[in-house]
Amino acid sequence: MTQAGADPRPALTRCAWILADEGHESGLAGQLTARGPEPGTFWTLPLGLAFEEANDRAWLLIDDALTVRDGAGAFGVREPNPATRFHLWVYRARPDVRAIVHTHPAAASALAAAEVPLVVAHMDATPLFDDMAFLPQWPGLPTADREGEIIAAGLGGKHAILLAHHGLLTAGRSVMEATFLAVFMERMARQQIDAQQVGGSKPVDPEEARRARDFLRTDRIMNLTFDAWARRAERRRGLRALECA
Ligand SMILES: [Zn+2]
Repeated sequence: MTQAGADPRPALTRCAWILADEGHESGLAGQLTARGPEPGTFWTLPLGLAFEEANDRAWLLIDDALTVRDGAGAFGVREPNPATRFHLWVYRARPDVRAIVHTHPAAASALAAAEVPLVVAHMDATPLFDDMAFLPQWPGLPTADREGEIIAAGLGGKHAILLAHHGLLTAGRSVMEATFLAVFMERMARQQIDAQQVGGSKPVDPEEARRARDFLRTDRIMNLTFDAWARRAERRRGLRALECA
């Protein structure tokens, strides 16, 4: 669904609903993007549309000047969030990245506020083992190119980053991977805060973490997980009955 040339909008819409269900909504903050059909083009939601409100028609196709080339928009708005600009820096630096999730969910934001990096201390966090960066400074609102450069450099060759005083960003080889990492990053942050009540997070064995990551980060596992979350989202929105077929 998110291979080169395929239309990523159905997956993006489900990504938006999944993140809404997981508590990633935060006002105008947060953007989801995926590469468009032409090099240098990207799909993004119109400014002000909540993740909950996403639908396949609303996505805007923008170029690297944030000019809208296609897409209906929603509620009379047909302009992208200007903060989408920093995504372009990540795409430029990382040809392997096809989709980006950037959100300000509560637990990751709490760690970000405390300038505390995430620790891989549980099996469910191992997909992020040795693949998650931490940016210890906040470069300000990410609408200018300088912030884009700083965030892209902080991410380096990894697929996730916690941004101090800001939020999280995941850069996936598919919409499904970007979603999968964002959901587990926030759940992991919640767990790290909870673990403070009982002695704090203890890192898991690195060799076992690496082995678990290599299994859990296969497309099959990530796509099956995404599909289950997408069906949950569709059921909650009355688009699908509970069925086992
Ligand atoms: Zn942000």
